[in-house]
Amino acid sequence: MERRVVVLNVGDFIPEEAYAELFNHAEVAFYGRASPEELRRAEVLVTFRLTREDLQMMPNLKVVQILSAGVDHLDWSSIPEDLIVCSNAGSNAIPVAEHALALLLAAAKRVTYYDARCRSGDFTRDRTTKILHGSEIAVLGLGPIGMRVAELAKALGMRVRGFARRPRGEPFIDEFFAYPDVRGALNGADLAVLALPLNKHTKGLIGYGELGAMKRDGVMVNVGRGGVVSKPDLIRFLRENPEFTYATDVFWSPEIAQDSDVAALPNVIATPWIAGAFGHPRVYVDMVRHAVSNVIGYLRGEGLRNVVDRSDYV
Ligand code: NDP
Repeated sequence: MERRVVVLNVGDFIPEEAYAELFNHAEVAFYGRASPEELRRAEVLVTFRLTREDLQMMPNLKVVQILSAGVDHLDWSSIPEDLIVCSNAGSNAIPVAEHALALLLAAAKRVTYYDARCRSGDFTRDRTTKILHGSEIAVLGLGPIGMRVAELAKALGMRVRGFARRPRGEPFIDEFFAYPDVRGALNGADLAVLALPLNKHTKGLIGYGELGAMKRDGVMVNVGRGGVVSKPDLIRFLRENPEFTYATDVFWSPEIAQDSDVAALPNVIATPWIAGAFGHPRVYVDMVRHAVSNVIGYLRGEGLRNVVDRSDYV
């Protein structure tokens, strides 16, 4: 019987053991070096991106395993309905959750505010900082990132509200709010962390009214996607509420420098999309390992994790 073909478009960092395990179950071809015949026979593709040309070259694909947790960058209109697409949710949740905590602490403790002053020789103290212990935090999105944030928030003594679609009974969530009750989740909250994917339901979910539901001196951290927040509403809200802080790793434009108007606001703390420990070799290898393990499960007939519901995007 002909061996099944898996095409890897993952660069050169393939963990040896993952490759060896994959090779036990399938013929492995490398994108860019695979023959037209291997591409034609390909059943699985592991990749960050998926172009129309890829789909033409690989007409027998059954599964596409995306390397990133987010899949909003895909051209969903070009993807056939019967092609299974899996995200890589969970592959870098630990560094992203740590980054969310770093932004949360920097904002709550006004680290960047006072650091800038001290550097200029100004050691005056005119703003109070927050105490996280005992405060109310809303965690929007309870995938691996949101759940890890909830766990860390609980460890710091915060009361945790969770927001997602499917109800959760995890020990780190004190109160659950189901979509679409995002205002309920944010109402009177001191802090919020957005760990939501960008899909047709979450696009612009956070507008002026949602921001205004939080405390006036609140902190909102975004490590999900910029588009979950309405940019014009955010700018207006931040200008009107100088005590509120928006701390973000994610932006709206593919060229993030185009969003420097937001990053330049005095009550914004920004990092340039680095929450996934950008460039860290261990993180990238972990992402590839996580993606390949899902493909191996599929080849063994054990089923797939993180199958994306295309109706969230189309
Ligand atoms: P998952 O995709 O596994 O989890 C997403 C969560 O969001 C689930 O709890 C899901 O709830 C919830 N959700 C989805 N749609 C809605 C909705 N309409 N209303 C309420 N809740 C909703 O994700 P991860 O935790 O791994 O990642 C989340 C996002 O973080 C990714 O999609 C990606 O965009 C972003 N990310 C950012 C990185 C960065 O570098 N800044 C790095 C990695 C990821 P339910 O299960 O109930 O549907």
